Amino acid sequence: MSLRTPLVVAIDGPSGSGKSTVSRRVAAHLGLAYLDTGAMYRAATWWCLERGVDLDDAAAVTAAVHAMVLDLDVNPRFPSFAVDGSDVGVAIRAPEISSLVSRIATNLDVRADLGARQRRVIDLECTPDGFSGGRGIVVEGRDITTVIAPDADVRLLLTASEEARLARRARELHGAADAAAVAATRDQVVGRDAQDSTVVEFRTAADGVVTVDSSGLDLEQTVEAVLEQVERMAGR
Ligand code: C5P
Repeated sequence: MSLRTPLVVAIDGPSGSGKSTVSRRVAAHLGLAYLDTGAMYRAATWWCLERGVDLDDAAAVTAAVHAMVLDLDVNPRFPSFAVDGSDVGVAIRAPEISSLVSRIATNLDVRADLGARQRRVIDLECTPDGFSGGRGIVVEGRDITTVIAPDADVRLLLTASEEARLARRARELHGAADAAAVAATRDQVVGRDAQDSTVVEFRTAADGVVTVDSSGLDLEQTVEAVLEQVERMAGR
């Protein structure tokens, strides 16, 4: 497909909608950079814990995040995140981080800091100096289509029924989607979204944002559905 260049594809949606995996695949397919903004919030959480910052002290959290040296690789085939020179790719997926990240993400000064960093990455990928050589980027996360990149060429809300999202996360975390695994996952998916939605709306599509419902689709089909929308909105 022949697409507009540079191209910015913004994807948001709730936990378990598959946005990270799908965004990565779409970016690799189109030769674009890929930014997982959730990983930035996770890295900030990891950093605050590492530094022993009291998460109830909003000013201390803001100052720590402000001082965080975060290096990221936007290659969709090998995305990576390093804080202060240490690779945190595995550490930021720990359950402890998943259960604490919303506390950092609901701090509006932290959102402003990480949001500014995200906009810089997007802007760089629209120039020849970026990883994509100016082809553009797929960027995903809960406030991307509305707050961070409202002017993106393609804005999608990737969603799925609560049942489908719970079953996916249960399989990811526990290797099965039986009743016990789903119950153990509920807090991670539904609880985290409820907390996050106090500061960002990502459950209904804003004006101009197209919804892709992946409830009945497997990964390949979801990637296809997203690619179709990209072509429809940014084809030439
Ligand atoms: O996508 P992921 O589950 O890794 O995101 C982790 C957390 O980061 C979310 O639960 C949310 O608290 C926060 N987040 C956010 N805004 C984004 C991306 C993630 O608040 N753009």
